[in-house]
Amino acid sequence: VRTKVGIVGAGPAGLMLSHLLHLEGIESVVLENRSRDYVEQRIRAGVLEQGTVDLMNRTGLGERLSREGLVHQGIELRFGGRGHRIALTDLTGRSIFIYGQQEVVKDLIAARLAAGGIIEFEVDDVRLENLDSDRPAIRYRTDAGEHVLECDVVAGCDGFHGVSRDSVPAGVLSAYHHEFPFAWLGILAEVRPSTEELIYASHDRGFALHSLRSPEISRLYLQVDPDEPIDAWPDDRIWQELRTRLETVDGWSLADGPILEKGVTAMRSLVVEPMQYGRLFLAGDAAHIVPATGAKGLNLAIHDVSVLARAVVEWDRTGSTEMLDGYSDSCLWRVWRVQDFSRFMSSILHRFPEEEHDGFLARLRRAQLDYVCSSTAASTSLAENYVGLPFD
Ligand SMILES: Cc1cc2nc3c(=O)[nH]c(=O)nc-3n(C[C@H](O)[C@H](O)[C@H](O)COP(=O)(O)OP(=O)(O)OC[C@H]3O[C@@H](n4cnc5c(N)ncnc54)[C@H](O)[C@@H]3O)c2cc1C
Repeated sequence: VRTKVGIVGAGPAGLMLSHLLHLEGIESVVLENRSRDYVEQRIRAGVLEQGTVDLMNRTGLGERLSREGLVHQGIELRFGGRGHRIALTDLTGRSIFIYGQQEVVKDLIAARLAAGGIIEFEVDDVRLENLDSDRPAIRYRTDAGEHVLECDVVAGCDGFHGVSRDSVPAGVLSAYHHEFPFAWLGILAEVRPSTEELIYASHDRGFALHSLRSPEISRLYLQVDPDEPIDAWPDDRIWQELRTRLETVDGWSLADGPILEKGVTAMRSLVVEPMQYGRLFLAGDAAHIVPATGAKGLNLAIHDVSVLARAVVEWDRTGSTEMLDGYSDSCLWRVWRVQDFSRFMSSILHRFPEEEHDGFLARLRRAQLDYVCSSTAASTSLAENYVGLPFD
């Protein structure tokens, strides 16, 4: 089988790339090692930047989003017994949207299949070949046997644990890595959110976040140790700890309900440079990971593929590889901006282990929180990054 762009991974990056290419008349095939049902149910991010929403609307994906997505114009930072609102829209003119990543994935799969696009689910043993030639190929297996997909370009959109990044010969990529000394225990609960806007709470016992996915479904997180076993957290303990960290404002209380899903996610940063090797282009979590505090991973993945799609289109139309050659540089500026912001949010909101013995550090962190909430310049900077810089 031959196609123009072979895409590994049917997450937001791979599916959006396939969609954008299709709108420009360029063929692609998406290979995914999980089932359709699995990727459509996988609970992950849920905050869309204005730029992501604008792109979805512009490319015909906005119908359900405009009906079911929730527009948010502010977030709350809660600490020291008070809530401090960061008025995102007043400060920047832009908003965020609450719409689950799995809903974005469902919309993209539906759009691709309706347009006759090819997504092969449940493929095995994906291997990338001849990446440094102008005839790269993807070898993979299905129940029907072994297949080879020949293409002009391979897009590695297979996330942090995928095979694409590791297919690049040793020594070509530089990896910049940082592990944070905490993880997030996240739950999805069948309970009406106790808040209209997201609450980021900094407490002596650690960070907590009250987020949501819909008017009926809440998403909440607790800072825990990086190697925390999920079995140590029965549902009652989770609600108890959430109440301790969030119910610090007079008159505010947290409603609880059945927990539908829970899991512990490491908080880490990774960037590989460059994001390309020969005819392989890495996008999304395959190239970079950010701690979830800034709500950026999904948005960054969508931005990468918007740049990659434009570069492939230019190459297809004019034969010029200038934009493809510059793909990595075009993306990395934003990737590092987002890394910096995500680290900033993580560092002001979480309790670091050193604070146990060092009151100085805890007080510095409190001074940063006070400044962000009392200075218009500092809150505008937070807001501008949180709603996301415009897509170029
Ligand atoms: C466990 C987890 C929880 C997260 N929670 C949050 C959150 O709460 N809030 C937040 O803001 N962000 C969260 N994120 C970050 C956000 O979800 C990601 O940044 C986003 O999914 C990136 O999209 P992507 O398309 O690049 O990668 P992915 O969504 O990971 O998609 C990659 C796809 O490739 C497939 N794949 C992998 N290996 C292969 C292979 N060998 N062959 C074929 N297909 C393959 C995978 O099954 C997957 O469908 C979370 C991420 C993870 C991993």
